[in-house]
Amino acid sequence: MELHGALVASPGMGHAVPILELGKRLLNQHGFDRVTVFLVTDDVSRSKSLIGKTSTEEDPKFVIRFLQLGVSGQELNGSLLTKLAEMMREALPQIKSAFMELEPRPSVIVVDLLGTEALAVAKELQIMKKHVLVTTSAWFLALTVYMASLDKETLLKQLRSRGALLIPGCNPVMFDPVKDPSNYIRELAESQRIGAEVITADGVFVNTWHDLEPVTIGSFLDPENLGRVMRGVPVHPVGPLVRFAEPGLKHDVLNWLDLQPKESVVYVSFGSGGALTAEQTMELAYGLELTGQRFIWVVRSPAEDDPSASMFDKTKNQTEPLDYLPEGFLDRTKDIGLVVRTWAPQEEILAHKSTGGFVSHCGWNSVLESIVNGVPMIAWPLYSEQSMNARLVSEELKIATRVGVDDGIVKKEEIVEMVKRMMDEEEGKEMRTNVKELKKTAEEALKKSHIPSSYFSQ
Ligand code: UDP
Repeated sequence: MELHGALVASPGMGHAVPILELGKRLLNQHGFDRVTVFLVTDDVSRSKSLIGKTSTEEDPKFVIRFLQLGVSGQELNGSLLTKLAEMMREALPQIKSAFMELEPRPSVIVVDLLGTEALAVAKELQIMKKHVLVTTSAWFLALTVYMASLDKETLLKQLRSRGALLIPGCNPVMFDPVKDPSNYIRELAESQRIGAEVITADGVFVNTWHDLEPVTIGSFLDPENLGRVMRGVPVHPVGPLVRFAEPGLKHDVLNWLDLQPKESVVYVSFGSGGALTAEQTMELAYGLELTGQRFIWVVRSPAEDDPSASMFDKTKNQTEPLDYLPEGFLDRTKDIGLVVRTWAPQEEILAHKSTGGFVSHCGWNSVLESIVNGVPMIAWPLYSEQSMNARLVSEELKIATRVGVDDGIVKKEEIVEMVKRMMDEEEGKEMRTNVKELKKTAEEALKKSHIPSSYFSQ
């Protein structure tokens, strides 16, 4: 029987990138005859241009299909998690029809954490193996399944009394102060639903590897700790699932990097969705200018009340990002800096020998891309689970420094100090050594297959 996998990614590059990489891996390493990847999106043309060269549409064994939603993320209210959950719920009938129309019928499906409602659809269609790919850390998976193991009252009581969740065998998760209580309750309910659905899968893949999260992965393997919470559902660390730099890619940014000294450039980017306020954009510009350090900055139009605003921005609604920079900034920094509007070839920048540091919002893909290229970071989390990722890279792995955690503005003086610490000081040297060590463990993990060879054919 032909081995056909159907993989579904929820909206956003952060989900599409690892799902596509997993798809390629199933085809090249796990004996799949065919893989179909469904990318759910509210804007097909934008998604197509963002995934760009990743698409291997000509290969009949690796097919990418876009599922266009009737609803746009911009029209919805709530946090990013609740918006994405709503969008994926909206996509369910389309996902079901897509599965039914596939020839041959898939025997394996993989959804990400936001698509777990499709596990029941797959069960209804009698698809043999149902999996979840966690596109972020094992620690976030731990949080999600542990929350689902508590009843709502106990969960709220723990959060109110400690402001943190004590997860068995893992580091506790601190919660940010609640700004919007009704949305907070909605988000907790969605998270508990997702956690409960995860353990209906046959297995869970996580975009991580042992040396990156030894404690959490150990807890999942321990029947007394998270192993109990998973109720026998196996957790497979399959990372790093990252896109690698495309050799020979031509881009102005890369031509500019070619002219800079080794490890001298700080790359500044807040992922596919991150947006700063207008005031913060100004402050960052002044800070970068004051450092005198070479930089590449992916500048977005600001958003005042939603740091994830760029996620669903349509080009037609965007203002000119460069209008928000201080007067004369581009001119004054033209010899040391390069400003790029909205999007840059991140993997190629991080892989370039001239790049020496990354100011990052700590989206999980950005974290992994920085590690596989041995680049230390300044962690500047904005939304979702990014503050957990920032804590992991700064406090545990010691490959990043972290901007101040109060919710005010990050001042230019602080930016100067952070960049100096990363690029010039002893602390930065240690971070660079640590991240290069971790890079080696990523290379080792890539050589191994963490899924048993007979796993899919049984
Ligand atoms: N990305 C890119 N160019 C950009 C911004 C982002 O290529 O200007 C890519 C980045 O390399 C990563 C993905 O988009 O693979 C973003 O994922 P991440 O998890 O870091 O953050 P998210 O966008 O989901 O917040």
